[in-house]
Amino acid sequence: MPTTAFHPHDHSHCVQDALASADRLCQASGARLTPLRRRVLELVWNSHKPLGAYELLDRLTAEGHKPAPPTVYRALEFLLEQKLVHRIASRNAFVGCSHPGAVHSGYFLLCECCGNAEEMADNRALVSAVEKAVATAGFIVHSQTLELTGICRHCSKTGHAHV
Ligand SMILES: [Zn+2]
Ligand SMILES: [Zn+2]
Ligand SMILES: [Zn+2]
Repeated sequence: MPTTAFHPHDHSHCVQDALASADRLCQASGARLTPLRRRVLELVWNSHKPLGAYELLDRLTAEGHKPAPPTVYRALEFLLEQKLVHRIASRNAFVGCSHPGAVHSGYFLLCECCGNAEEMADNRALVSAVEKAVATAGFIVHSQTLELTGICRHCSKTGHAHV
């Protein structure tokens, strides 16, 4: 599987896929994907760069939504609960989940150069190593996000930032 976030690609497909998956998953689970929640998800998916809550508010305000901050936080909470987005703690920002609906942990590669975040899809060895260590500690995990920062293949090759 190619690492799409770190390669120039037709991002409109990513957005379309993400929204279609969200519609399908919420329909199946009975979760209410309201127009605002859906728009928030679409804005988070605007790029592969994690988006902060304030940035999100600014964009919604610019569109004439004028939502109260708690409404936006609740929408983000909802998207997190539905596992449609992940929270990137080191940037205090949110990024769309690239494989929603599948049981997985959010393990991310974060490029300091282009700012993009790529969710590691093939991380089974890593997940089982973590599970083993956690079981040894007798700890019950509710959520986990792993953030690895550095330079992506594309940026190290071109030597400068791209979008
Ligand atoms: Zn994309
Ligand atoms: Zn994910
Ligand atoms: Zn990069």
